[in-house]
This record gives sequence, C-alpha cells and structure tokens, in this order.
Amino acid sequence: MFLIHYGEIALKGKNRRDFEMALKRDIQRRVEKVTSSSNSSGKIPSSRVTPSPKVSIRHKYLTLEVEPSANEQEIISALGKTFGIIWFANTIELSRKTELNEIAEHIIKLAKPDASAKQTFKISCKRADKKFPQTSPEVEREIGHQVLENTAYSKVDLTSPDHEYFIEIETDRIFIFDKKHRGPGGLPIGSNGRVLVLLSGGIDSPVAAYMMAKRGCAVDFLHFYVKEPDENSKIIRLAKKVSEYTGPGLVFLTPYLPFNMQILETKTVYELVLFRRFMFKVAERMCEKKRLKTIATGDNLGQVASQTLENMTAADDALINHTSMRPLLCLDKEEIITFAKKIGTYEISNEPHKDCCSIIDKHAKTRVEVKKIRAEEEKIPDYEKMLRDTLENGTEIKLDGA
Ligand code: ATP
Ligand code: MG
Repeated sequence: MFLIHYGEIALKGKNRRDFEMALKRDIQRRVEKVTSSSNSSGKIPSSRVTPSPKVSIRHKYLTLEVEPSANEQEIISALGKTFGIIWFANTIELSRKTELNEIAEHIIKLAKPDASAKQTFKISCKRADKKFPQTSPEVEREIGHQVLENTAYSKVDLTSPDHEYFIEIETDRIFIFDKKHRGPGGLPIGSNGRVLVLLSGGIDSPVAAYMMAKRGCAVDFLHFYVKEPDENSKIIRLAKKVSEYTGPGLVFLTPYLPFNMQILETKTVYELVLFRRFMFKVAERMCEKKRLKTIATGDNLGQVASQTLENMTAADDALINHTSMRPLLCLDKEEIITFAKKIGTYEISNEPHKDCCSIIDKHAKTRVEVKKIRAEEEKIPDYEKMLRDTLENGTEIKLDGA
C-alpha cells in the first residue's frame, strides 16, 4: 500500500476536492501504464485479469493499492514524476486500533535485515490523530527501545541515523515504512487547464513545459520546422521525454517555409521579431481551434541579445485574446540546465539541429518598438494567406505521456 501526501492542494479550501480528483486521475493513469507494461513483459500471467490500481482519497492523503506482483521501482519512478505529490512511501498498513506492541513487532521485522551493531537508527512518529493514547515522542521511545532489544542495532542516532523507520498515525489507520520518496511538488496536471508550449530544439522550451505542468497545466506543443520531423527526430524525442512529466498531449508541427517565402520579399531587418509575432499568431489560432487556454515559451530575459523586454512586448502585441507565459523569464542559465538534466532533456537538446531561429539570428535586432514592428508587419504581403498555408500544412503527433 502506497501512502501519498500532497502539499498545496490541502490549502485550496473549496477546490480541494477537484485538486484531489485531478491528482487521483493522474496517479491512476501513470500507475496503470507501468502495471500494464509489467503485464506485457510476462510478470503476470496474461490469462489473469489484473484489477486496475486502486487510488483512494482519504483524509488529507491518498493511498494506492497495486498487485503484489507489480514492479515497485517502476511505480516509485511514476509517482516521482506526478505533480502535486510532496512525498510518498511504500508502507505496511495497520488498523488504527493496533496496539503499540504490535506496531513494534512490525517495525522490528522491517529493521532486522538492515540492523548491525555498527549502524544507527531512528524511529520517527507522526500523529495526525491526537486521540491515539501515546504521544509521538512516547511512541518513538518505546518502539526504539524494543528495536534495540530485539535486533542487532545497539545505538540510536536522532540527527543522522543510518536507517530511519516511520510511523504515521492517521485518524483511520496506521502506516509504517522505512523510506520516504520525494515527489516533484506543484499542482496536479489538468487542475489549471491545457496550454500550448512553443517547442524549439533548445534547452529552454522543454523546461518551460515542465514548469507549466508543475503548476497544474496539461501541455500540447507547437513546433515550426525547417525539415518535417518524423517520430525519431530530435524534436519528437524531446517532446516525448518531457511528456513523462507533462502527460499525454499532441505535438503540432507547422512548416517555417510559408513565412520564409514571404519575408524574403520584404528585406526587413526585423525578421526575428516578425517571426516571433507570426509564431504567436499561429499559436493563438491553434489555441482557439483546440480550446487551449494560453501559450508558453522558453524565453529568458537577456539570455541572448534579442531577448529584451522591448522584443517580448513587440511579440505579445501580436496576440489578441490570449496572453503569453514565460516561466523561465528570470532564471539563470545554470538553473535552467539543472532542471533540463533532472528531467532528462538536456542531452537531447544538445544534439545538433537546424532550427529556423538559427537561420534568422544573424539579422536579430535587439530592440524594436511596437509601433515600428506593426508598420514593418504591414509590408509582408498576403499575411493572412501565409497564416492559412502554415496551419493547413500542419500535422500532429500524439504523445502518450509515458
Ligand atoms: P530554446 O532553448 O528553448 O530554443 P533559445 O534560448 O534558443 O530557447 P530562442 O531561439 O530565442 O531562445 O527562442 C525563444 C523561444 O521561442 C523558445 O524557447 C521557444 O519557446 C520559441 N521558439 C523558438 N524557435 C521555435 C520553433 N522553431 N518552434 C516553436 N517555438 C520556437
Ligand atoms: Mg532556440
């Protein structure tokens, strides 16, 4: 039985139920995936119908029951990527009425394989139910004593023990376990709607998708390509990798060519900002068509010469009914790289890739005013047709989010 604790959801007052439901659904989906894949790898006889993992909402925590044959490491990995979870543990579940001696027996059984005279341990008890007859320090002392008597351990260390054993006394049951795993925190996916992330082949935009998902957004992606990507291309592998966190979604692929053809006619030096505006306009139409709430990018203030407040304002001016999110705006490159490494996108991002922005970059203007860019945009012939050509030639690839 997995015990799952969430963080901020508990603060959400009336909305708490919705958040709990979103978390429950996401856990169910992820765990179903890993347990059905262990099915297909033959761990469970195919003739047997596996009941789906059971996620239950309890009082300020969730529990997850899986088949005993399920692969524990895969479940730990899945829960470790589920936004909303602060920590979780694979536990032994006991009735709330269990007496202290019996709890001690379970802990002793758990501790015996780890125990040695040279190593230290600690018992940590938390009582959500204050009606339990002993206080937490009393439980810790009494059980610690019994562990010393009945195992090879000879020493307790309260500050940095080699092993720690946990007892959580909830109002309706008691959990014991020996390892707490950290979840990624944040809010459950879907609790804040669905967004469209502009995905390039770089380091930043996959991290931006991760950040939006961390705050509860489901994610679809939009990528403008020079050469149409296939399933094995860098951009799709990047999207797949980040979707291990962001969940199921779509990658919309649109050609850069229609914009490229029209811009050649204008001989402008504002090509980069004009392209940013164009990407936003295409993205906005997609949001409308697919009912996505807003768009997000991997923009970062000052990271390259063109990422100025003026240029970002000029890009935002292209949007009519939507706004743009820039979750990486104020992070340092090192901080972004740390995230990229953690989510596993860094290596893929570093593979060589011909991006449309790298074609344009040599013309980059560092600052342009809104009034000026609007006038420049008027010079692009057949703008509406260019938008339509781009959208009509778009394709999509499905991400199953695992
Ligand atoms: P990244 O590392 O995400 O590529 P970057 O530092 O290279 O970012 P730019 O190339 O200036 O920055 O792009 C800024 C943002 O514009 C990207 O983070 C991404 O959201 C969006 N973008 C850039 N190129 C494309 C593209 N070809 N398709 C879709 N979005 C793009
Ligand atoms: Mg880029």
